[in-house]
Amino acid sequence: MLLEKGVVDYLNKEGRYAYDYAVKLVKRLSLNPGIKALVVDDSLVSRSLMVSLLQQHNIKAMQARDGVEALGLLQQHPDIKLLVTDYNMGHMDGFELTTKVRLDYSPEQLVIIGVSMESDGELSAKFIKNGANDFLRKPFSNEEFHCRVMQNLELLETIEKLNLAVTTDELTGLYNRRYFFDEGSKQLAQCRKSDQHFSVALMDLDHFKQINDSYGHQGGDQVLRQVADLCREHFSDCICARVGGEEFAIIFPERDLSESIQQLDPFRQQLESTVISHQDAQINVTVSIGVCDEGGDLDELLKQADDYLYRAKEEGRNRIIG
Ligand code: GH3
Ligand code: MG
Ligand code: MG
Repeated sequence: MLLEKGVVDYLNKEGRYAYDYAVKLVKRLSLNPGIKALVVDDSLVSRSLMVSLLQQHNIKAMQARDGVEALGLLQQHPDIKLLVTDYNMGHMDGFELTTKVRLDYSPEQLVIIGVSMESDGELSAKFIKNGANDFLRKPFSNEEFHCRVMQNLELLETIEKLNLAVTTDELTGLYNRRYFFDEGSKQLAQCRKSDQHFSVALMDLDHFKQINDSYGHQGGDQVLRQVADLCREHFSDCICARVGGEEFAIIFPERDLSESIQQLDPFRQQLESTVISHQDAQINVTVSIGVCDEGGDLDELLKQADDYLYRAKEEGRNRIIG
């Protein structure tokens, strides 16, 4: 009765979990306005019902009458996170649509929920084997629909958070060492295949231990964050990672040694003239850089860059050697 009056959800206060559920739901409702969904069904009644259920939960829902129309909308809105599709439709059915969508979007990027009235018990398995995340048989209760949507969106967000944690460095937000090697090796292989240049730089902050000694570990961390911001500014088209304590590595795809130095030197100069504020202190820092563009795999390139970096330190720091 409550749900028919447009109440979003209700709880029986049967156990302690009811409160967790309520909190989870409120969080969900506050996150949902950022989520775009697409409902695909040739029946206007069924489509409108699902759209209104999604809207009730603050989700922006678009609609399409068949798979062809759905693919068009998906192309215009590549940020759609949830696709609810009927099975039986003219032009392109739910299976074909699911199969086509999966060519471009993994189940971790876009949730697909299949729905159908067919009594064929194999249909749910078939939908999932074609790439759907979940399946609902029509007619379903409003509650069942909401529960499935909520659960699947939560899973998607958990995976997104995990992916971010696995690929980025917590302090600076730059990529981490693992991502650097995974993605860097792929890009190196691609460049080699197409006969393109590829260079790698390794940089290390100068006398960073002294910064920690003078301004404390927090001062040091503030310097690392500022260096990372400057990296993002100068190397937005490269893979830039924090690969060690005060060590950063950059991959320059399709650029040779002199082109990468042209990009590195303005960075080095700007860092030299930047004053980093921490509490009442004004901190200056410089960086030494080794860079190379020839050699074997990524490990060997980095080893070479490290040798040049060592020379840059020996020759007086705050310089680039390639
Ligand atoms: P050089 O010019 O030869 O590179 O000297 P350096 O002092 O920079 O080099 P060294 O390797 O002696 O010191 C690096 C310091 O970086 C030591 C370590 O305590 C500090 N460090 C490593 N990771 C972090 C971090 O996450 N935060 C802070 N604040 N310091 C860190
Ligand atoms: Mg170091
Ligand atoms: Mg150092």
